[in-house]
Amino acid sequence: MKIDILTLFPEMCETVLSESIIGRAREAGYVEINCHNIRDYSKDKHRHVDDAPYGGGTGMIMQAQPIYDAYMNLTDNGNKKYHLIYMTPQGKTLTQDRVKELAELENIAILCGHYEGIDERVIEELDPEEISIGDYVLTGGELPALVLADSVCRMLPGVLRNDEAFEKESHFSGLLEYPQYTRPPVWMGREVPEVLLSGHHENIAKWQNEQSLERTKIKRQDMYELFVENDNKN
Ligand code: SAM
Repeated sequence: MKIDILTLFPEMCETVLSESIIGRAREAGYVEINCHNIRDYSKDKHRHVDDAPYGGGTGMIMQAQPIYDAYMNLTDNGNKKYHLIYMTPQGKTLTQDRVKELAELENIAILCGHYEGIDERVIEELDPEEISIGDYVLTGGELPALVLADSVCRMLPGVLRNDEAFEKESHFSGLLEYPQYTRPPVWMGREVPEVLLSGHHENIAKWQNEQSLERTKIKRQDMYELFVENDNKN
């Protein structure tokens, strides 16, 4: 898979995406990620990419032209197939199900807004999928783009050590994950549940499933009800 991020702050994205699991996945070639500076496409002699909003109001608006040209350059004037996503608090909230679907695509481009947002006309022209990472507003789309890129990358074959690593995790199958423990077996008088030390794989799996159900019921009643409803249908 190839992910291209269009941003005014490529270094901000590059720093995060060069670290840890995603950094290693890029080096190993499981995913290609490129960060492009929208400013490079400004036609203004001072490389301006934003201007004051028509109709008044505070803040600056990113201009349509540099964004459009950056995307046209990326897609070779629309000849290369890309799924374009605009990170915006007005979009549909990102879910694990959508992450799974996006991980099946070959080329994703992620557009990051900044300041007060983007000239509406380029959004109309490029018609991106609009994705939000939650009902709150950040200063720019870079952190949301990183959230999206990270969540998609870890679904790609080879990025995590084995597929089970995410199949048991929260949200993948509609439940929250069971509690996890590591050494030492006793910490501050708190013991690791005995079954986990037993080496009995069947009993361990049964305990983990029960715990998953139990904590989803307690922490996320909405998810639990949906899970039970779907389970009854199958
Ligand atoms: N004026 C815009 C509005 O009220 O809808 C918000 C603009 S926000 C300050 C600047 C940029 O940050 C947006 O264009 C978007 O790319 C990004 N952004 C902010 N919050 C976000 C969120 N919750 N999810 C995704 N992107 C977000």
